[in-house]
Amino acid sequence: MASLYTASALAAPTLRVGSETTFPPFEFVDVKTKQFVGYEIDLINAVGKKAGYNISVQSMGFDAIIPALMTGTVDVGVSGMTITPERKKKVDFTVPVFKGGLVAVVRQKDAAAYKTPAAIKGKQVCAQLGTTGQLKAEEISGKKARTFNNAAEAMMELRNGGCDAVVADKPVIEYFLKESRYFHELPTQLTTEDWGFAVKKGNKKVLNALNSALVSLQKDGTVAKIHKKWFNN
Ligand code: GLN
Repeated sequence: MASLYTASALAAPTLRVGSETTFPPFEFVDVKTKQFVGYEIDLINAVGKKAGYNISVQSMGFDAIIPALMTGTVDVGVSGMTITPERKKKVDFTVPVFKGGLVAVVRQKDAAAYKTPAAIKGKQVCAQLGTTGQLKAEEISGKKARTFNNAAEAMMELRNGGCDAVVADKPVIEYFLKESRYFHELPTQLTTEDWGFAVKKGNKKVLNALNSALVSLQKDGTVAKIHKKWFNN
């Protein structure tokens, strides 16, 4: 009898993907289907298909992803991760998968008091633990910076008055802004950052497979299609 599975699907090795999955619209849980969805989830699935891997996403704290790659608990980090010199000492990154950047957000009712990022200098600025947003928050508010396990918790604390501002990635902030009228994004993006998928340092096999798949998906228009699906442009 014919098998339900093709030989190649059975033979395909699995890439264990570590991701902090409360980061819409890049990686988050669809409330209806309970599946992981988002721009980077679509992208890593397309990359896996192209490169001949099954993809299995595991949810974990953002600050746990690099340690998990280093110890080999996961094979790829897919988590809106900015390619930084500091992280490059610990893991290897693919070619960029997204152009990101940080912005600051305040409560809507404080919009007149905090007109620019300069106005939040020395204020209580909050961010997600282990992120480039945390580094920027520390730069802006010094010792006062506070961190949370994810962007949603930081935004909740802002709403509740425990933070004067939150620094996080612009598309993620804008996703929250669409859902709620409590917040106001400050003009002037604070940084521009390239995001990449991360692998264990020296894992050339997986890195090369991901990179060649990414390049061909960029060439054949798949990446643009996924971008259009999530960002409408
Ligand atoms: N881009 C930011 C960073 O790399 C935040 C990533 C995230 O919170 N998932 O630090």
